[in-house]
Amino acid sequence: MKVAVLAEAAGETRVSAIPETVKKFAALGASVAVERGAGLAATISDADFEAAGATTGTRPEVLDGADLIFSVTGPEPASLAGAKEGALLVGALDPLRRRDVIEAYASAGIEALALEWMPRITRAQSMDILSSQSNLSGYKAVVDAAAAFGRAFPMMMTAAGTVHPAKLFVMGVGVAGLQAIATGRRLGAQVSATDVRSATREQIQSLGAKPIFVEGVQGIEGEGQGGYAGETSAEYQKAQAELVSGHIAKQDIVITTALIPGRPAPRLISDAQLATMKPGSVIVDLAAEAGGNVEGCVAGETVQLHGVKIIGAVQLARTLPADASALFSRNIANFVAAFWDKDAGRLALPDDDEIVSAVRLTKNGKIVNARLTG
Ligand code: NAD
Repeated sequence: MKVAVLAEAAGETRVSAIPETVKKFAALGASVAVERGAGLAATISDADFEAAGATTGTRPEVLDGADLIFSVTGPEPASLAGAKEGALLVGALDPLRRRDVIEAYASAGIEALALEWMPRITRAQSMDILSSQSNLSGYKAVVDAAAAFGRAFPMMMTAAGTVHPAKLFVMGVGVAGLQAIATGRRLGAQVSATDVRSATREQIQSLGAKPIFVEGVQGIEGEGQGGYAGETSAEYQKAQAELVSGHIAKQDIVITTALIPGRPAPRLISDAQLATMKPGSVIVDLAAEAGGNVEGCVAGETVQLHGVKIIGAVQLARTLPADASALFSRNIANFVAAFWDKDAGRLALPDDDEIVSAVRLTKNGKIVNARLTG
C-alpha cells in the first residue's frame, strides 16, 4: 500500500500529512511518498518527512503506483495524470462548488472521498476536518478582531486610570463560536453569545459567557437535526432581529459564525443595525464565504461601514498552517486507521457504512454520493 501526499496549489498553506502521521502509516505497513516542498508553508521540511520514513519526489514520482492520495484541497484533475485506476483521493474536495472537478475524477477512475462530508456522529469526531479547522478559525477570528480593534480587551486598572473591558458578542455557537467565546474570555473581554439551538445555552454559560436568547418563540430544540441548525420561522427571525438590535449597539467586537448546511448563511446583522454600533467596533464574519451573516460583508476583504470594520474572513485555518496541518493530518490518519484491514494491509471501505456512504463521491467511474446524484 502506497500513500502519496501532494503539494498544494498556491494559496493553500496546509499539508495533508505530518511526520507523526507518516510514522502511523508506516506502522500500518504502508509506504509514504511526499511531493517535494509539500510541507514548507507549514514549517515541515522534506528532511523532516524523510526522517519520519517517507520518501520525497516529484508529483509523477509520488503518484506512481499510489493507492491512497492525500490532499488538503482537491487537486486539478489534470495534475493527477499517471495516478492508477481506483486510487483513493482523500481531502476537502468542496463537492457542491466543484462538481465538474468531481466528474473529472470519476472519469479518470479516481475514487474521491470528501472528508468535509463526515457525518456528525460520535464515531466520526476524530476524523472531522470541519470541526478541527473551525476550532482554529474561531480562535483566530478573535485574535484578528483584537488586532484590528483600536483598544484593549481586558480591564486594566492603572495609575493613569481604568481601561474598560471590551464587550464581545458571538453569534452562532458551534465549534468555531465556542472557541471564539473561550478565546475572548482568555483575553479578558466581557463575552455574550447567541444561537438558534437551545442546547447551546448551557455551553455558553459553562464557558463563563452570557447567553442572549430569543424568549417565547421556538427556535431549534436541542442540538438540531444531525447537530446542524435549519432555517427558523419568520416569527423567530423577527424576534431575533429585535433582540440583536437591542444588544449590538453596546458591543465592541462581534464574531458571527452562523451557517446552515446547503443554504446561504442567515443574515444576522443588517445595515441599519450596523449604523447603531459604536465607531471603531470590529466584526469578524466567519460565514463570509457562504454569503455572510453581516450585510455589506465582502469575503476576503475588510470593509468599513458606519465606522465599523467588517472583516470577511475566509479560510482562517490557513493562517495557522502548522496547527491546522497537524489536526487535518490526524483527521485523515484517524479515518484511515478506522477502515484499515490489517489482514489485507489495505483500506476496506464498506458501502453500507454510514461514514463511507457520506464521504464517498465517486466509484467505478461514476458519481455515487446521494447529495450529488439526488
Ligand atoms: P455550523 O458551522 O453548521 O454553524 C455554526 C453555528 O451557527 C451553529 O451552532 C448553528 O446552530 C448556528 N446558527 C445557524 N443559524 C443561526 C442563526 N440564525 N442565528 C444564530 N445562530 C445560528 O455548526 P458547527 O460548528 O458545525 O456545529 C454544530 C453542532 O454540531 C455543534 O453542536 C457541534 O458540537 C456538533 N458537532 C458534532 C460533531 C460530531 O459529533 N462528530 C462534529 C462537529 C460538530
